[in-house]
Amino acid sequence: MIPGGIDCDIHPTLPGLRSLFPYLPEHWCEILDQQGMHELVSNNYPPGAPLSLRPDWRPEAGPPAQLAHIRSHALDPWETRAAICNCLYGVQLLFNEDMAAAIARAMNEWMARELLDLEPRLRASIIVPMQNPGLAVEEIERWADDARFVQVLLLVMGDMPLGRRVYWPVYAAAEKHGLPVGIHAGSAYHNPTTPTGWPSYHGEDYVNQAQAFQTQLGSLIYEGVFGKFPGLRVVLIESGFTWLPACLWRLTKFWRGLRPEVPWVDRSPAQIVREHVRLTLQPVDGPPDAEQFERFWEHMGSDALLLFSSDYPHWQFEGDTPLPPGLPNALARKIMVDNPIATYPRLKEVVS
Ligand code: ZN
Repeated sequence: MIPGGIDCDIHPTLPGLRSLFPYLPEHWCEILDQQGMHELVSNNYPPGAPLSLRPDWRPEAGPPAQLAHIRSHALDPWETRAAICNCLYGVQLLFNEDMAAAIARAMNEWMARELLDLEPRLRASIIVPMQNPGLAVEEIERWADDARFVQVLLLVMGDMPLGRRVYWPVYAAAEKHGLPVGIHAGSAYHNPTTPTGWPSYHGEDYVNQAQAFQTQLGSLIYEGVFGKFPGLRVVLIESGFTWLPACLWRLTKFWRGLRPEVPWVDRSPAQIVREHVRLTLQPVDGPPDAEQFERFWEHMGSDALLLFSSDYPHWQFEGDTPLPPGLPNALARKIMVDNPIATYPRLKEVVS
């Protein structure tokens, strides 16, 4: 591990919807109580599932991944200089746009007051109600002046492919404020989580997330998002990354043959990804030994693409280090420090 790394994906747990009541208008508190939603738990990560929480990070009582746990499990041991909080709490699941906007705003307020104000090493992603891009832009504008918010957070599976033009105002706002758009594993669960229908088991659901990331990457590239927003950075979070070389080979091969249908895509998908897209480290989905991994790094074709993440408190690795075995020191330094700083303009001040 390189001391002073930047952890680009940790998950503080909101103890329950009732924790947001101090930050919600009275009207919404009444509605949530009346509808029995105050104990709602998002089912993106069933709280009792082994993957959701590493056994040695599971507290004996009470909710996991609270501020004290984050400090002692994820910040202090790895000498982390900054960690980005990605709070997943079901905002995208709701069909009611007004309720989603109110909860997104309250969650951002909760993070600012109960995490960022108390721990200077923490940063956060802005949660937005993607059900309504206009409301999502309002939420970005609300937090844009607070430099501790370093990214806009989306889920990889929503109602439509993310390259579609209806979402472009969100990308315009993100680009304007120098905020990368982070796309995290997870679904709004409005549609099946695979193209062939609903799977039965959590393991299928989780592995299939990689397919959704590939679909979104194709959508963003082919619809021309990066041509329209040349300053935009997209970070694929908790996506795995060993699928990327094969996906890019195919995206690039078929772009060559079919480029007359997308004349606005003026560079190869491989080049677009090198310039605009980054991926977080955990879950490492690569081979277990260092020698095979070395071959994979060559396939990636760039040492700038990966950003360090522990995905705390999810159970993605054993032992004391989230880094894969045999990672050369220079590459570890790039992944843990240089690449995150180059990706998130608002993190530059943490190393200056
Ligand atoms: Zn994550």
